[in-house]
Amino acid sequence: MKFEEIKALDEKYVLQTYARYPLALAKGKGCKVWDTEGNEYLDMIAGVATNALGHAHPKLMKAISEQAGKLMHVSNLFYIENQAKLAKMLCEVSGVKTRAFFCNSGAEANEAAIKISRKYTGRREIIAMSNSFHGRTMGSLAITDKKKYQAPFEPLMPETRIVPYGDFDILERAVNDNTAAIFVEMIQGEGGVKFPKKNLGETVGYMKDMRKLCDEKGIMMVVDEVQTGTGRTGKFFAYQHCGIKPDIITTAKGIAGGFPVGVTLVSDKVGSCMHAGDHGSTFGGSPLACAAGIAVVETIIKDKLMENAAKRGKELLGGLEGARGLGLMVGIDVGSKEKAQAVKKDMQNRGILINVTNEKVIRLVPPLIISKKETDFVIENLKESFSSAK
Ligand code: PLP
Repeated sequence: MKFEEIKALDEKYVLQTYARYPLALAKGKGCKVWDTEGNEYLDMIAGVATNALGHAHPKLMKAISEQAGKLMHVSNLFYIENQAKLAKMLCEVSGVKTRAFFCNSGAEANEAAIKISRKYTGRREIIAMSNSFHGRTMGSLAITDKKKYQAPFEPLMPETRIVPYGDFDILERAVNDNTAAIFVEMIQGEGGVKFPKKNLGETVGYMKDMRKLCDEKGIMMVVDEVQTGTGRTGKFFAYQHCGIKPDIITTAKGIAGGFPVGVTLVSDKVGSCMHAGDHGSTFGGSPLACAAGIAVVETIIKDKLMENAAKRGKELLGGLEGARGLGLMVGIDVGSKEKAQAVKKDMQNRGILINVTNEKVIRLVPPLIISKKETDFVIENLKESFSSAK
């Protein structure tokens, strides 16, 4: 189908909840994608930090197609070999003795984390950070600090509180006997690629202080690694830069390279509170989804993609003035919505797809397989684009 036909069909039959690019992508290979009109692009969006292995990766394709021919879905009424194997792999890469709950998205992973925190502690209040993003379901939206997203749907889940991101003193004063959990992103993705503190060093201190506070008060420390996880920042999970162990880790996006998988990793101790019937998901952890997850985690380790993310990220951060972030999670605040949109459009004309987050931040979250030649190409074009865009 031609682009205009697809667009017309979408506008007639699809709920218009997205502001879309004027493109329909038809195929991809590695870090490249092609639209329906045959134009080629370097993909610096990667399905919003999701296509960790890029497009049409042979190992991921093989794992999915082989498993699809064997067994796709059976429900969680049965033991599932791939689910148990992936849970073990995630426990190992997390550095925390965890048990996994499998679902299908980041929001769902956070919903599970809310329920588990409440059940384990017997408390009700959930604290989250200013400028946070945890999803769009009624629970995860309640801890997403964006009035524009919340207002039309209120009342949301009660007993939530927002504290300023990065301010430990206020956080310490905010916790009370009813605090079940503190939710934090080590780097805010939707919030504009922001650390809670000036730099990584100070962020480590903040995260360590939070860990200590949670230990002292019996509060669940929930680190949302939906965007920062799966090797993107140069470690499997971003909290591993801080030398801390969360009680609960939520992840999704890249974990199965584009196949919908969400995971709530819960420390063994906390996980012991959950029993049959306490939570569930029809699709969660299917043989097919977990085959994809296993292929992604194995490839990230075997092909040293965390090392690649760290190196390529350093090049992007070093090559672009005003860039911030860690590994292949890079943001550049261009100062205005208009300039961000102009750069986005200009980059598209140059054959590079980039994304704008938090209105005025250019976000680069490419596949972890990106090469130096490709990051050099992005740096060169972005520099030109910044100087030409008003
Ligand atoms: N948490 C974080 C940090 C995210 O960045 C996102 C999505 O952007 C979510 C949760 C929600 O994930 P999903 O869209 O898979 O529900």
